[in-house]
Amino acid sequence: MATCIPAGIGTMRCRVTDCNIQRCRRTTWVSDMPFKRYLQKEFSWSKGVSQVLKVQRCEFSVPQLYRNRKLFKVVSSCKNDGSTKHFDFAVIGSGIAGLRYALDVAKYGTVAVITKAESHECNTNYAQGGVSAVLCPSDSVESHMKDTIVAGAYLCDEETVVCTEGPDRVRELIAMGASFDHGEDGNLHLAREGGHSHHRVVHAADMTGKEIERALLKAIVNNPNIFVFEHHFAIDLLTCQDGSDITCFGVDTLNTETLEVVRFLSKVTLLASGGAGHIYPKTTNPLVATGDGIAIAHRAQAVISNMEFVQFHPTALADEGLPIKPTEPRENAFLISEAVRGDGGILYNLGMERFMPLYDGRAELAPRDVVARSIDDQLKKRDEKYVLLDISHKPKDEILSHFPNISSTCLQYGLDITRHPIPVVPAAHYMCGGVRAGLQGETNVQGLYVAGEVACTGLHGANRLASNSLLEALVFAQRAVLPSVDQMKSSSLDLTASNLWPRPVVPLSLGNDVRGKILSMTRELRKEVQSIMWNYVGIVRSTMRLETAEQKIGEVEAKWEEYITQHGWKPTMVGPEICEMRNLFCCAKIVVSSALSRHESRGLHYTIDFPDLEESERLPTIIMPSSLVNSTWSSRQLHKQPLWQ
Ligand SMILES: Cc1cc2nc3c(=O)[nH]c(=O)nc-3n(C[C@H](O)[C@H](O)[C@H](O)COP(=O)(O)OP(=O)(O)OC[C@H]3O[C@@H](n4cnc5c(N)ncnc54)[C@H](O)[C@@H]3O)c2cc1C
Repeated sequence: MATCIPAGIGTMRCRVTDCNIQRCRRTTWVSDMPFKRYLQKEFSWSKGVSQVLKVQRCEFSVPQLYRNRKLFKVVSSCKNDGSTKHFDFAVIGSGIAGLRYALDVAKYGTVAVITKAESHECNTNYAQGGVSAVLCPSDSVESHMKDTIVAGAYLCDEETVVCTEGPDRVRELIAMGASFDHGEDGNLHLAREGGHSHHRVVHAADMTGKEIERALLKAIVNNPNIFVFEHHFAIDLLTCQDGSDITCFGVDTLNTETLEVVRFLSKVTLLASGGAGHIYPKTTNPLVATGDGIAIAHRAQAVISNMEFVQFHPTALADEGLPIKPTEPRENAFLISEAVRGDGGILYNLGMERFMPLYDGRAELAPRDVVARSIDDQLKKRDEKYVLLDISHKPKDEILSHFPNISSTCLQYGLDITRHPIPVVPAAHYMCGGVRAGLQGETNVQGLYVAGEVACTGLHGANRLASNSLLEALVFAQRAVLPSVDQMKSSSLDLTASNLWPRPVVPLSLGNDVRGKILSMTRELRKEVQSIMWNYVGIVRSTMRLETAEQKIGEVEAKWEEYITQHGWKPTMVGPEICEMRNLFCCAKIVVSSALSRHESRGLHYTIDFPDLEESERLPTIIMPSSLVNSTWSSRQLHKQPLWQ
C-alpha cells in the first residue's frame, strides 16, 4: 500500500498552516505580516506562488514527431502497452483549456488528452454568451480590468491581467476555424453582458461554446501528435516526494467502457478538468462537472484556493414555470444567458413587478451575485418558485437571431419567448476557486499545471465577470505552454518507474449484486449531499447553517464509507461513481470549510452573520495540503510513493 507522505507544505512560506479538509483557516503566502496590513495591490498571490515554484524558461526547438494515427485512437507505440502509456504531455480534460493547450504543446512532443466522457461533453460546449475581449476602439484594457475587479469585489489579483491577451487569443481561435458573429460593418459583433461597461463579448449567436469546442476538436483530430482517450476517468495523479518537493509523473485512469485501469506516465500534466457544479442538485453544468480535478489535486498536495466563491447563475430555466413540463428531471438546468439581460431583458416577480431597481442601481445589468441574491430574496419573500425574464418587448427578428438556441429550446416546452416571459431561477454555475495557479498556470506540484475552471488564477476574485472564464481558460492554457515544454525537456521521468505506484483495482470480484447495492446507496447519498449543499451552503449563508452542513456532510460520508466497506469495498478499489462520490465529498467539504473561514460578505459569499465587507478579510482563502496521516479514506490519495529509494 502507499507510503504516507507528510504534507508538502515545507516549501511554502505561510503564516497559518493548520488547514485540513475538516476545517481550514485562511492564510497568506508571505510570512510574518499581519493580514490587515495588506491592500490587495500589495498582496499578489501569483507573486507568492512564483517565489515558491521554480518555473524556468529556456530556448527550445521543435522536434519532428510524426506518427500515424486514427481518429481518437492510440496506435501502436513501442513505449505503450495496454495498461501503461507514456506521453510527453498528459492533458486531463477536453474543454477549451485542455484542447487549446494540447494543440500548442503538440508542437514539442506527444500528447494524451484524457477525458471522462465523450470529448465534447464539457462546460465549454454549453457556454452561450461568449468570450470577453477588448476589440472595440472605444473600449480599453483598463476598463475591462476595472469591470473585472469591481465584479470580483476587489479580491482579484491585478497581476493576472489577462485582459491584454484577449484579442490575440480570440484571433487565434478564429485562425483555428472558430466562426463568430459579425455586425453589418463587417467587424466582429460584440455583445454586452451584466457587469461590463462596454460591448466586448465575442460570440457565435447563443452557442459560442459549441462553436469553439467544434473548431478545437477538429484541429485536434487533424494533429498527428495528439491522442484522445475518451471515457477515461482520471482517478489520481502519480506523484513522488523528494524532501519537500512534490513532482507529478502522470495519472491513473479508469477506462469506463472496458473497466480497465490505464496508467499514463507523462513528463508534464495539465489539469483542465473544469468545474464542480454537481456538488449542488441544481446546476447549469453537464454531468461531468463533479469537481474531480480539485479533489485529485488536493489529494496530490496541491494548494486549493477561494472555494467559498461558488457562482449561482441568476437565470436558469425554471421547468415548473413552463407550459409543457419536461417528462424527466434534467441532469443540468438549461441556461438563459446573461446576454438576454444585456440585450434589454427585464426581471419581474410573478406579480409582474420589476424588482431589480429596488436592489441595485444597475438593475438587470448588475453583476450575477447581486442579481442572484435579489431573485433569491424575492422568491423567499413572496414564497414563489421562480421569477420571469422578459425580452418580448424587443423585435421578434432580433430575439430569434440573437438567441436561436434559447428560443428554440423554450419553444419545445410550449413557450414562445418573443411573446411571453421566461420562467427563471438561480442555479449553481461556476466555481471561482480551484487549484491555485501562478501566472503561467504552474502549481506547487512540479510538473503539474492547471488551466480553465479547475484553476484559481486570481482573475475572478470573489465573483467572475460574465464571459471572463473562456478568456481566462484560453490565456492560461497558452501561458502554460512554454514552462511546460521547459519542464518536459528537463523531466527526469524514469520509464521503468511505472510499477512503483500500486495499481488501483476494479472490484469485479465483488459480484454484480454487491456492486449494485453499493451503487444504489452511492446514488442515494449523492443526492443527500447535493441537497445539504443547496439548503445550507447556497446563495445566502450563515455560520449556523454552514456548521450544520459540515456536520451533516461528515455524517453522510461516514455512513457511505461504512456501508461500502461492510460490502467489501477496499480503499484500493475504483469505479467511476465511487470515485466521483469521494471527489464530491472532498469538494463539498472544502467549500464549507472555506465559507466558514471567511468572516465577511464579499462577492459570491454572502453570510448574514458577517453581512459587510471587511478590509482586513480582503485576502484569498487558501487550503493548504492536508497531512495524509489523519485524513479519512475518501480524502486520501490511494497511491503515492517516493520514486527515489
Ligand atoms: C451553461 C453554461 C454557460 C456558460 N457560458 C459562458 C460564457 O458565455 N462565457 C464564459 O466565459 N463562460 C461561460 N461558462 C463557463 C465556461 O463555459 C467554463 O468555465 C469553461 O468552459 C471551462 O472550460 P474548461 O476547459 O476549464 O472545462 P470544461 O469545458 O468543463 O472541460 C472539462 C473537461 O474535463 C473532463 N473531466 C472532468 N473530470 C474528469 C476526470 N475525472 N477524468 C477525465 N476527464 C475529466 C470533462 O469531461 C471535460 O472534458 C458557461 C458555463 C456553463 C455551464
